[in-house]
Amino acid sequence: MPDPLVVGNWKMHGSRASIARLLDALVEHLGSCETEVAVCPPVVFLADVASRLEGSRIKVGAQNISEFDDGAYTGEVSGSMLREFDCRYVIVGHSERRQRYHESDAQVADKFVAAQKVGLKPIFCVGETLAEREQNLTLAVVQRQLEAVTDKVGSTALATAAIAYEPIWAIGTGVVATPDEVQRVLAEIRIKLGGAGARTQLLYGGSVTAKNAEQLFAQKDVNGALVGGASLDAEHFVKICKVAG
Ligand code: PEP
Repeated sequence: MPDPLVVGNWKMHGSRASIARLLDALVEHLGSCETEVAVCPPVVFLADVASRLEGSRIKVGAQNISEFDDGAYTGEVSGSMLREFDCRYVIVGHSERRQRYHESDAQVADKFVAAQKVGLKPIFCVGETLAEREQNLTLAVVQRQLEAVTDKVGSTALATAAIAYEPIWAIGTGVVATPDEVQRVLAEIRIKLGGAGARTQLLYGGSVTAKNAEQLFAQKDVNGALVGGASLDAEHFVKICKVAG
């Protein structure tokens, strides 16, 4: 069985003060939680977060990575820079980046490569829009997104990442995919990974809450969650992490 993993994506939320309060609560209540837990703060807070979490079981992740090693890329942050701040994970291919910043499958794949090159574990996001779902294209879209990465690195390397199925219509909407739907997609992903996928951490993301987490985590191929909104609330996030373990 893959180890359970819960990742909090704080997106562009928080201040130094609110993040300090959130971290205090997480450190206090997740001390004995068996689940692998990571939080992904806005990049300017990485140093604060890494220093507060030093010695705790909670790991640090980033929300984005440049596909380039270094150079004249104003506003970008490289993998080696993230590593200097104790980052272990990085979210790659989040739908907000694919849609709002026009990251293509090819660029996402390059970011995946850049992450693995410096030893960061990609939290690789895939998922369909509502229109694609209504046209029954979910599995085709997910397959295309996975293949953009396997074409570059092969399925064994993809299998060492965590893969998050995040239907776009479920992100930040309060509409959660049904446990059956999630299981169907994650089972397909696991099959696609072949033998190497037996231990791959497959996550679901999209309006996960303390209330619906248990049903989702009861599915055979759901090994955890990528959590947006609920990760900003210590009580809710702690519950989700504990249910996953
Ligand atoms: C996300 O941003 O990856 C996400 C799943 O957000 P939310 O939990 O708020 O739907």
